[in-house]
Amino acid sequence: MKIGEFLRSARKDKNITLRKLSEITDISFSQLGKIEREEHKPSKENLIKIANALEINVAFPLQLLGYDTGEMKTNIIDPLLRYKMFVRDELKCRICGAKAPTVTLMTDLIVPVDDGEEVNLENMVSLCEECFTGRKRFIEIEGLEKDFLFKKNKLRISLKNN
Ligand SMILES: [Zn+2]
Repeated sequence: MKIGEFLRSARKDKNITLRKLSEITDISFSQLGKIEREEHKPSKENLIKIANALEINVAFPLQLLGYDTGEMKTNIIDPLLRYKMFVRDELKCRICGAKAPTVTLMTDLIVPVDDGEEVNLENMVSLCEECFTGRKRFIEIEGLEKDFLFKKNKLRISLKNN
């Protein structure tokens, strides 16, 4: 199977438009189109972004393109952990309260792995697709530090130093 075909079918399965995927991943609409048409080989970084947005295991697409998968453990969220998170959050988006299956719930990390935090239940949060995208924009506009306040106020998650 080719990478473009694989990503397109994963996207269709999730019912996400190319434009929506572009919003979530910050990869341009035209570049995503080229990736799906096999006209552009995605970088490892972009492939991980796409896989995260589509909530698919990134190992397979990385292998398809011959990228090393050795460091990717943190990217793959254990399904059991995800299940525990959904149970804890009562299948509700933790920002707006919308409930599945009315909305599609996604997994977001409160503090990204890139910022030194681990993938664990305390650092995971169920968000609907709209809040997931909105929060991402918020972080970009306001910076991550303000997002800490955002999550404390809105999600009422106490931080360790609180
Ligand atoms: Zn929401």
